[in-house]
Amino acid sequence: MRLSLCETVTAGPLASNHVRVVGPEGLKLGGGAPGAALCGRDLAKGWDLREINAQEIHRLSQSINDAGRPWVCRPCADAALALTGAGG
Ligand SMILES: [Zn+2]
Repeated sequence: MRLSLCETVTAGPLASNHVRVVGPEGLKLGGGAPGAALCGRDLAKGWDLREINAQEIHRLSQSINDAGRPWVCRPCADAALALTGAGG
């Protein structure tokens, strides 16, 4: 399973990133990411930042950015860990 760190089209610079499962469409670095993030947030044709593994997602969900938000949305991180069996 391929996972991607992604942003909704309305994301600000200090918003938490989300995670989606990358399908046959591949990474959408320039926008047009289909569907919803793992937390259920509609990506609204946002974009992928890069491919990422579950361990890194977990680490980023535990660290806080300058706005006091986790770098990765925690519901997305939890779902990614559950999907990949990397949770604990
Ligand atoms: Zn999310």
